[in-house]
Amino acid sequence: MKFADLHLHTKFSDGTFSPEELVLHAQKGGLSCIALTDHDTVEGCASAAIAAANVKMEFIPGVELTAEHNDTELHVLGYFVDTQNKKLLAEISKFQIVRQHRIHQMVSRINEMGVPLDEESVFALANCKSPGRPHVARAMVKAGFISHMDEAFERFLKKGRPAWVPKSKISALDAIELIHQAGGLAVMAHPGLNKTDEIIPAIVEAGLDGIECFHTKHSTAMSERYMEIADKYNLLVTGGSDCHGFSKGKPLIGTVKLPYERVEKLKAKVAERKSATAVS
Ligand code: AMP
Ligand code: FE
Ligand code: FE
Ligand code: ZN
Repeated sequence: MKFADLHLHTKFSDGTFSPEELVLHAQKGGLSCIALTDHDTVEGCASAAIAAANVKMEFIPGVELTAEHNDTELHVLGYFVDTQNKKLLAEISKFQIVRQHRIHQMVSRINEMGVPLDEESVFALANCKSPGRPHVARAMVKAGFISHMDEAFERFLKKGRPAWVPKSKISALDAIELIHQAGGLAVMAHPGLNKTDEIIPAIVEAGLDGIECFHTKHSTAMSERYMEIADKYNLLVTGGSDCHGFSKGKPLIGTVKLPYERVEKLKAKVAERKSATAVS
């Protein structure tokens, strides 16, 4: 049996693995196929593709976008996107700029609270276009202001705390359109975590291709429920560990194993859409 993990992060967003390390861990986890889905960036895809090819592992370029629909936050995964697509790169670069500005705002608030965290130390540690709260937390640990990342979230960074700054979100409909025009498939990420069930019909109407039924934080009952929803709306079924490397303890890669037939179904849909656009 071949297995895939279609939800993975690297240090190009808030994970800790380099693309090369990710591939090594995927091998150890018995995976034949992986997708990289960093937040708001495809920066790691080129190196991951090379690292995977070196060990004859299949690689799917992807991205995870933070979206909203009627004030409900959801994450939209894009698979098989063209990582050179101009519109995709232009749109995600706007989110990257907002993320960088958000670091500046978060650090200012932390400074106002009497902690002399240096903004440059956060950017240096992040060393990517799509920095986030975990980088602020890690920089605080590194500078010795706190002893554990969790403390940074508890005292400063989590929603409602003084240094919490909301993230900008793309509308879910625009996210789906952006992914489609880049040749990709749009998939709703971890629906069990976002309380998004009531918006599913509208998102399906907008062209959603699939739903992430299997995820580390989904119970068996949740996975079954979303399999039924996938059936009802004729959606493709995906799954992944949402591994962030060592940033949240033991790496999760290898804990969610999607049977490879599911990937074949995704590929068939991409091929079908390509041939439809070639004809029209
Ligand atoms: P951001 O995209 O900047 O809002 O950061 C979100 C990331 O922070 C996600 O990967 C979360 O899983 C992570 N995160 C949230 N709470 C914590 C925590 N207590 N410890 C470590 N990471 C966290
Ligand atoms: Fe994340
Ligand atoms: Fe997510
Ligand atoms: Zn994720």
